[in-house]
Amino acid sequence: MQTLAPLKEYAKEHDVPIMKDEGIEFICKYIEEHKIKHILEIGSAIGYSAIKFAGAAADVYVTTVEIDEERYLQAVQNIKERGLESRISIYLADALLFETDRQFDLIFIDAAKAQYIKFFEKFKHNLSPRGVIVSDNLSFHGMVEDPHLQCNRNTVMLVKKIRKYVAFLKSNEEFETEFVKCGDGISISKRRNG
Ligand code: SAH
Ligand code: MG
Repeated sequence: MQTLAPLKEYAKEHDVPIMKDEGIEFICKYIEEHKIKHILEIGSAIGYSAIKFAGAAADVYVTTVEIDEERYLQAVQNIKERGLESRISIYLADALLFETDRQFDLIFIDAAKAQYIKFFEKFKHNLSPRGVIVSDNLSFHGMVEDPHLQCNRNTVMLVKKIRKYVAFLKSNEEFETEFVKCGDGISISKRRNG
C-alpha cells in the first residue's frame, strides 16, 4: 500500500484530527485478532483511519460517513489512489441521518463528540451478534480526567459532553465497556449477553 505519510502531513497542516499512531495501531491489532470483517465508521475525515483499517487484513470492508464535503472529497481521492474503492464505501452525510440495514462487526465512533450518545443509540441496532462499538477521544488530550479544567467555554462544554458519554457507558445495562488508555482514550463496548 502507498505510504500514508502525505495524509498525516495534510492532517497536520489543515488541523484534521486523525487518530494517533498508538490508537490506530491498537484498533488495527484488534481487527486482526478478532477477525473483524465489516466496519462502520462515523467520521471519515480524509479517509486516514478507514484506509488503515482496510490495511489490517485483505478481507476487511469499511463503510464510512463524513459530513464535511471538503474532507469527504479528499477521502474519496485518497481511497482511490490506494485502489481501495472496492473495500471502502464512503458517504457524504450527517451520520445521524444516515440509514443502513447492514450489520457490522465493529462500529467506530469518531465524529462530533457532543453526539456520541446519539450515534451509539442509533447504530447499536447495526451491530452483528458479537459486534463491538469502539469510540475515540474519550480522554480529549487529558482534559476529561482533569478535575481543574481550565480552558475556553466551548472546550469545557465539549469535555462535559464526553464525561457524560463516559458515564452513559459506565452505567449502561445493555453494554459492558472497557476503557483503554491508549492514544487519546478509546472505549470498547460489547453486548453483555453477547
Ligand atoms: N476517523 C478519522 C478522523 C475523524 S475526525 C481518522 O482518524 O482518520 C472527525 C470527523 O467527523 C470530522 O471530519 C467531522 O467533519 C466529522 N463529523 C462530525 N460530525 C459528523 C456527523 N454528524 N456525521 C458525519 N461526520 C461527522
Ligand atoms: Mg478521533
